[in-house]
Order: sequence, then structure tokens, then C-alpha cells
Amino acid sequence: MKNNKRIIITGATGQLGSLMVDFLLKNTNHEIIGAIRRTSQLIGKNLKNAFKNKRFKLIHLDLNDSHSITTTIKNEKPDFFINLGASTFVADSWSMPENHMNTNSIGVLHILEAIKNFKPKCKFYQASSSEMFGDVHYSPQDIKHPLSPRSPYGVSKCSAHLLCKTYRESYDMFVVSGVMFNNESYRRQSYFVTRKITLGTTRIKNAIDNNEKFEPIELGNIDAKRDWSDSEDFVEGIWLMMNQDKPKDYILSSNETHSVREFVEEAFKVVGIEGRWEGSGVGEVLIDIKNPLNVLIRINPKFYRPAEVNLLLGDSTPARQELGWSPSVSFKQLVTKMVLHDLEPYKKA
Ligand code: GDP
Repeated sequence: MKNNKRIIITGATGQLGSLMVDFLLKNTNHEIIGAIRRTSQLIGKNLKNAFKNKRFKLIHLDLNDSHSITTTIKNEKPDFFINLGASTFVADSWSMPENHMNTNSIGVLHILEAIKNFKPKCKFYQASSSEMFGDVHYSPQDIKHPLSPRSPYGVSKCSAHLLCKTYRESYDMFVVSGVMFNNESYRRQSYFVTRKITLGTTRIKNAIDNNEKFEPIELGNIDAKRDWSDSEDFVEGIWLMMNQDKPKDYILSSNETHSVREFVEEAFKVVGIEGRWEGSGVGEVLIDIKNPLNVLIRINPKFYRPAEVNLLLGDSTPARQELGWSPSVSFKQLVTKMVLHDLEPYKKA
């Protein structure tokens, strides 16, 4: 097709990046260029379907190398650049803060510079994060909420967010930041709390069914509250933001908040296990009501963070009213979807 556009997506093997690739291959006729780090481990898994499509290709791009970014923009001449590549695990950002600043902030600076200098009409999407609101001042958080991060990760995302605003205003570039609250799917890595819970729940369900011994799931702060959505809903929101006449930032969120504790309860409900919380603080456990010797959840302080974001709750009303975006999956449906996916391997075994 003549009007095919060229779209670069960084982080293409990651959860959101790979879902974005799949969404655009299915819903547009554009050429999709997945950009990944050479060391990325997930190529086979998440891009299985994309590789079957002739409009998809994979390139190597290192967000920590300005030359690699400049060369990519010069060679590929993209019409859209969707930046979903980042160091995304908040807990890691205390042990590798420089990596987070370099990849998530300086990397974005390099992309903006390369677009400005070599393809100024290219539209740019930045994955901003609700972690920028960290120590929240009010709820729900809207796009005007002050930036008050609580982790090096949050700081890196604030810095990139402000760079985007500055380049948009200084150079009249189409730069848009979508402030995304937590979003999850079966492609989420196992160290994020939702996937850790759904993988753990299904492992325990299988062990109980087979009368096998099992270890409980170990968690940190189970009273932290998050605004969780389905990542598949978000990729649609990102694409709507990229197709506005004028660039404007929006929040993507479910507009509901739930604790880690509630996520756990819901996940065990899906596999038919009813639990009861006992004890408090680091001694708190979730036990199986049917067999109280079965401990399902145990607290391990190693998963506590040096500084915690206790509550996130978004207000995505403008995205719903102005872009016509709306989430299709509720909290319960999201937990159910992830648990049922993680049960599959046990059924086949
Ligand atoms: P985040 O919101 O981007 O940091 O996403 P996570 O899934 O990593 O964490 C969500 C919340 O769950 C945070 O408040 C964590 O402190 C809390 N949490 C409690 N236990 C765990 C755990 O074992 N692993 C992770 N990753 N988070 C946990």
C-alpha cells in the first residue's frame, strides 16, 4: 500500500512493546520495525506471531548508545517512534540507578535529538509512568498532578517526561507522553507482583491437586494499592494518542485501585482455593481454609522497598472523553485472564 507508514517500537520483545507490535500488525497496514537490545531474551516467545508477518522486521537498537539511535533514525526514516523500551522494574532502580537514568532519561534525550535533526516530522510517543506521581498529593491523580517520584525509576521517568514537553514546546515537534498506570498481561515478567502471584497461585493449585508439598508465595508490602489495567487495552490508547491532530498528553488508567492483598485473594478464588489471613506485619500469612497446614502466602521483608508508593489511582476521564478510549477488561477479568493463562501448562502436563 502506498500510504504505508514506518513505525519503530522500542522494547519490542517486552510486554507492552510486543502487544503494540501485534496490535499494529493486526489493525493497520503499516511497516512495523521492532527495536530491541541485542541481549533481549524474549524474542522467540513474545514475537512469535509477528515473525509470520512480512510487514514486520527486527532491528538492534541500544538506548544507551546515541550513535545507534541516530543511525537507526537516519536509516529507517520512521513516521512514528513509539518508545516502550526502558528499564522498567522499580525495585531494581535502587541497585542500578545509573542504568535507569541512562536508559530511561538520556536514551529519550538521544531519540528526541535524532528525530529533531534527521526526521523532524516523525511523531514520538513516550511511555511515561504513574510512578512519577509516587508520593501522591491527591487522588485520583490526573495529568496535572505534581511530579513527586519515590524511586530512581520514578525520577528517570519524570526527567524524560519533562524533556518531551520541552522538545514539543521548543521545536514544535509531535511529541506525546502517555502517563500509564500499572498494566499487566500474561506477557508480564515474573518479578512483577501480579505475574508473580498468578504463576504462584497456579503452581500451588497444581501441587494441592496432586497432594504434593509446596512453598508459599513470598511477598513484600501486600497493602500497596495500584490501579491495574490490561496492557492490551493500553496499546489501543497509545495508538489513539499518536493519531491526534495536535500532540497532547493523557493518562491511561482503570480509575480503580486495589491492594496487592486483593489481587492475591482474587487469584486464589479463580483456582477455587479459599484463604484466610492470620497474624500481622512480617508474621502475616494466608492459609488454606480447607487445610490450615497449607500456607499460601508468606511475607518476606526482602521484597520491601526503601521507599514505597503506597497508593496509585488514575483519572483517565480526558482520554475517554476526548480520544474515545475505554478499557474493556475489569480488575476481576484481568486477574482471571492471567490465572487461566498460567494454568494452561498444568492442563497439558
Ligand atoms: P510497580 O508498581 O511498577 O513497582 O510494579 P510491581 O508489580 O513491581 O509492584 C507493585 C506493588 O506491589 C509495589 O507496591 C510493591 O512494593 C508491591 N509488592 C509486594 N510484594 C511484592 C513482590 O514480591 N514483588 C514485587 N515486584 N512487588 C511487590
